[in-house]
Amino acid sequence: SEALTRAESLIRTIPDYPEPGVQFRDITPLLVDARALRTVIHAMIAPFEGSFDVVAGVEARGFLLAGAVAMEAGAGLVPIRKAGKLPLPAASVTYSLEYGTATIEAHDDIAVGTRVLLVDDVLATGGTLVAAHELVETLGGVVVGTAVLMELTALGGRDVVGDVHTVFTG
Ligand code: IMP
Repeated sequence: SEALTRAESLIRTIPDYPEPGVQFRDITPLLVDARALRTVIHAMIAPFEGSFDVVAGVEARGFLLAGAVAMEAGAGLVPIRKAGKLPLPAASVTYSLEYGTATIEAHDDIAVGTRVLLVDDVLATGGTLVAAHELVETLGGVVVGTAVLMELTALGGRDVVGDVHTVFTG
């Protein structure tokens, strides 16, 4: 749609951030635009309408979208955080990055069988979302879908994450 094309045009690419050779997709010009924000939140929710109870958002940019998705869909929210940020982590998953590892954690605030929609801003290699999926299942949640604002197709994340709904590709 025209609204989605306009929203996509607001994502900016920053060369060599956070390190040389990386083309960083920066979504803040989209977030600041009320119309674009509303459009992409609706697009993220659309395939999953009525199918989830809780949105699990990945720190930190995933939080920005997950809160809006949860409110708009009438769902609750679970923050998936980087290690060491939560006072009562109940589950933790460590995964590989290009250099080294990362660990994510969550509180056990969901009942077994809770239907969870995973949300993040960008799908790159897919490592983060695979780990988030495992984390939610460790808590007894059922991942009913994954919604991401932008997929960097060249990095092959879709091959490891599996079924993922992405609004934009780049
Ligand atoms: P992955 O685990 O390699 O798929 O990386 C995805 C994670 O890194 C997400 O949580 C994103 O927020 C972040 N990320 C990777 N590339 C970008 C980017 O170009 N812009 C914004 N975030 C990114």
